[in-house]
Amino acid sequence: MTWNSWFSHGAPTAGFTGGPSIVSRNNAVCNIYVRGGDNALWQKAFFNGAWHPWGRHNDGAVLASEPALGSMGPNHEHIFVRGTDGAVWSKAWNGAGGWSGWFSHAAPVAGLTGGPAIVSRNNTVCNIYVRGGDNALWQRAFFNGSWHPWGRHNDGAVLASEPALGSMGANHEHVFVRGTDGAVWSKAWNGAGGWSGWFSHGAPAGGMIGGPTIVSRNSGVCNIYVRGTDNALWQKAYFDGSWHAWGRHDDGAVLASEPALGSMGPSHEHVFVRGTDSAVWSKAWSLVPTVILHLKVLTNPTSFTVDQMVASMRDVYASRGINVAVGSRETLDLPLLTDVDVSTCIMGTTTAEQNQLFANRNGVGANHVVAYFVRSTNPPGNGCAAHPAGRPGCVVSSTSSSWTLGHEIGHVLGLPHVSPSDRLMMGNGTWNITNPPPDLIDTERATMDTSPLTVNI
Ligand SMILES: [Zn+2]
Repeated sequence: MTWNSWFSHGAPTAGFTGGPSIVSRNNAVCNIYVRGGDNALWQKAFFNGAWHPWGRHNDGAVLASEPALGSMGPNHEHIFVRGTDGAVWSKAWNGAGGWSGWFSHAAPVAGLTGGPAIVSRNNTVCNIYVRGGDNALWQRAFFNGSWHPWGRHNDGAVLASEPALGSMGANHEHVFVRGTDGAVWSKAWNGAGGWSGWFSHGAPAGGMIGGPTIVSRNSGVCNIYVRGTDNALWQKAYFDGSWHAWGRHDDGAVLASEPALGSMGPSHEHVFVRGTDSAVWSKAWSLVPTVILHLKVLTNPTSFTVDQMVASMRDVYASRGINVAVGSRETLDLPLLTDVDVSTCIMGTTTAEQNQLFANRNGVGANHVVAYFVRSTNPPGNGCAAHPAGRPGCVVSSTSSSWTLGHEIGHVLGLPHVSPSDRLMMGNGTWNITNPPPDLIDTERATMDTSPLTVNI
């Protein structure tokens, strides 16, 4: 999991006011929308694998806020803005029909401050939320095929920013705002349980400018992003069932707007901001090739612990951008096997003994790799790699080097032996590995990356 570098998308010829907004209606399309310096709507689209030039929506609309974007399906997207009359207006795009005309949603009786925010938790529901003129949260809902009246959330909350909306599932949505204490607050709705109370997420050290933005790239993850008072990007993440601490993106970026967040798939998210050069900039979080390793210990190694062997492997693989994830660890007791001795350990072979050993995958996925730690092998002190009956894995003897595990998994991923002793895949003599590289070289990395046993997560 890594972030790529910031990338400039330029700006409309008219320039733009405020920050960008984005939407991905499916995993192959992303659209950036801004309020142009001429108060028209401007758009820059990613499709067919490339970004296309900025274009102006020549539909007569005069925007009085940044646009808010949403999608109710893979071929639908809609745009909501504040009009010059103080009402919320929207228009929608759907593949065959193109763009609709603009449609007024009016405004709460208290009016609204700033622009609208929207969310669709599934393809039949859309909710508009605004910060009312009374600083309460106001909502207008689309469900059962029609729009319903504006309603006030009488929950005591006093908003100090526009709301930011998100969803972590078809029956979940949550709203994030800046509170009067300068912290990020949220509350969540889920069908049966209704609305939760408001919950504070605190704020970055030093505070933040403006309001929060959020994204959930899948149902188990939510990220809050804000522009810190230091104009850096700050993030607070929810994963593994809990919220984690605020962290600063120390990537040199200087933000001139709140960030806008989006996702083009369950393992992708990207952040868009206005840079100090008044262009739109983005960076994306993407995947890293990962070997998912399962450890099955029949005999603990004597010279190095299993953990040390995994750490050595991880260091060398990481030097070429390949991640090692331990999927499981299990102690195996196989009394009927020639037990913990693999008397014939020959690379690539499928001896009866290896077959018996490798049969113990115990639910491990077909594209995962198993390492069996045994007492001895023949020849002694070594390991061996094998794919008996499509069960990728290796054997590591108890007297192995700390590098043996990574070496054998290298074979499993398709690497042959080499001669230089400073290479992980050295086949004879004594290792002289001085990680970092050249313990693995680029061509070896490419082979490992293309192995079906290296998954992108
Ligand atoms: Zn080898």
